[in-house]
Amino acid sequence: MDHSFDIVIVGAGGGGLFAALEAIRTNPLATVAVVSKVYPTRSHTSAAQGGVNAALANKDKDDSVELHVFDTVKGSDYLADQDAVDYLCGQAPLVVRELENLGAPFSRFADGTIAQRPFGGTVKDRCCYCADKTGHTILHTLFEQCLRQGVKFFNEFFLLSLEHDDGQCQGVVAMNMRNSSIEAFSAKSVILATGGHAKMYWNRSSNAAGNTGDGQAAALRAGIALKDMEFIQFHPTGLRKSGLLVTEGARGEGGYLLNRHGQRFMSRYAPQKMELGPRDLVARSMETEILEGNAFTSDAGSYLELDLRHLGAEAIKKKLPQIRELCMHFEGIDPIEEPIPVRPTAHYSMGGIDAGMAQTAVRGIYAIGECACVSVHGANRLGGNSLLDILVFGKRAGQEAALEAPQRKARPVSPAAVRKAADEIKSYASHERYERYGTIREEMGRTMADKAGIYRTEAKLRSGVEEIKTLRERFRHIRLFDTGTVYNTNLFQILELKNMLDLALCVTATALERQESRGSHYRNDFPVRDDQSWHKHSLCTLQENGDIRLGTGPVTMGKYSLEARSY
Ligand SMILES: Cc1cc2nc3c(=O)[nH]c(=O)nc-3n(C[C@H](O)[C@H](O)[C@H](O)COP(=O)(O)OP(=O)(O)OC[C@H]3O[C@@H](n4cnc5c(N)ncnc54)[C@H](O)[C@@H]3O)c2cc1C
Repeated sequence: MDHSFDIVIVGAGGGGLFAALEAIRTNPLATVAVVSKVYPTRSHTSAAQGGVNAALANKDKDDSVELHVFDTVKGSDYLADQDAVDYLCGQAPLVVRELENLGAPFSRFADGTIAQRPFGGTVKDRCCYCADKTGHTILHTLFEQCLRQGVKFFNEFFLLSLEHDDGQCQGVVAMNMRNSSIEAFSAKSVILATGGHAKMYWNRSSNAAGNTGDGQAAALRAGIALKDMEFIQFHPTGLRKSGLLVTEGARGEGGYLLNRHGQRFMSRYAPQKMELGPRDLVARSMETEILEGNAFTSDAGSYLELDLRHLGAEAIKKKLPQIRELCMHFEGIDPIEEPIPVRPTAHYSMGGIDAGMAQTAVRGIYAIGECACVSVHGANRLGGNSLLDILVFGKRAGQEAALEAPQRKARPVSPAAVRKAADEIKSYASHERYERYGTIREEMGRTMADKAGIYRTEAKLRSGVEEIKTLRERFRHIRLFDTGTVYNTNLFQILELKNMLDLALCVTATALERQESRGSHYRNDFPVRDDQSWHKHSLCTLQENGDIRLGTGPVTMGKYSLEARSY
């Protein structure tokens, strides 16, 4: 069955839903559909705990948009495009108030204003939150509003390819996961909002299982460049065993990080900001403590402690209820009684689809949220700025698409594109000499964690690139053992693995190329930031033969010139 809409949004996280809502509100006559591989409220946005940044000045009366811009640019290690950051921070108070009006129940101060908590790498306390369930609340609010406005949902549809004709958007090809039928979604505009790709780091990731970068890989294969792929954020506090996240809000509320000698070791690395240094710095400091033997050891690996006990039972129950639950379920400890065992975990992809202010190089195709690189996070994202990014640029893309799409001629997706996708899927079941999904998936995850983790070197990255290339070769023989057509999870996993392998090559290759340390990308062999040679974005495109080509692009500067970054 084929479909046709003015606007198709792929992804039903906070970014996709705000884009859909805004598109239909901007142009009620436009037909808007959302295609999502998971039921919307299961999107990873729902896992966001800590909050969303906006200079409302409810806590620190002298906060301003200007200070928010400065914190973001400095946090990005000066790699963010400052025009995009100006827009992000300028829109922040508006979108947070808009969400409140749409029904999101933000936590409040005693005077009734939206409460704000400290978050890492900022000079003022500006993170707005709904206890420690901010993303969940935002996602449900937006979903309700989309249903109310009549957005059409195609839930459990898997994006297979992005189609355009001579630089003009045609739409997408997707698979109905319930019966494996391959369907064309023709659209005058497509907004990609498929979330991040940090799940490629196997069991050292805070991400949902579905954060496999499907939209990024589809864009790459459609000839659109990926930008700044070497920058993967490691969050300091993942739970020891699962890598599940303990929000930065736990340190924002006053939690301490301790090594096995009982020392608050951050005093050595960020004497002023301590536990509230930016994420790249805190994660690196923790990794150093682990490497220097100052960590606790256990069967589940080395770890440090996040101590919340001094905050008291009442504050923990009121402000961090979900964290307490996660600790009880996944570590068997109650943070009211015991410190939480933590270690850094792959968390966020700063890089993604090259999209200046949400628009890609192909007319009518937009990319927003974590799958995109707009770029507002540069080399390191500040906590609380990603929920903001998805809202601000989701809204912008929805508005632009709604105004632009009706003026454009529809160019339907070709039947050949549908056939090509179907043939490829069929081929997976017919490989004689075969490879198994599980083996390649595990090897890829281990390579990424070992070779492209927090500390990187030329030797590690070189072998990382080679290993990923070998895995891509082996993937050619991947075997689909389950040939059923009803909710074939074996097939979904294979499709996701193919996408992750392409992106893993982009991450390792760009990390090898960038001979400097900036933000989350730390090279032991080039430990200093090198603005002369490397103050630029990296770009990856796919060649006909399946290799990737590397390039660079300029950083848009603004009010803030390059400065040393210290905390
Ligand atoms: C545990 C955790 C906590 C976080 N906490 C915070 C926080 O406190 N503050 C903050 O600012 N940021 C936080 N972040 C980051 C932030 O939550 C994410 O960057 C953001 O929510 C991503 O939103 P999104 O709309 O881009 O994508 P997502 O919410 O990840 O949604 C992706 C959507 O794409 C769809 N999709 C993916 N692939 C396909 C496909 N092949 N076909 C069809 N559909 C597809 C999925 O079904 C899903 O609907 C956190 C992240 C994590 C992992």
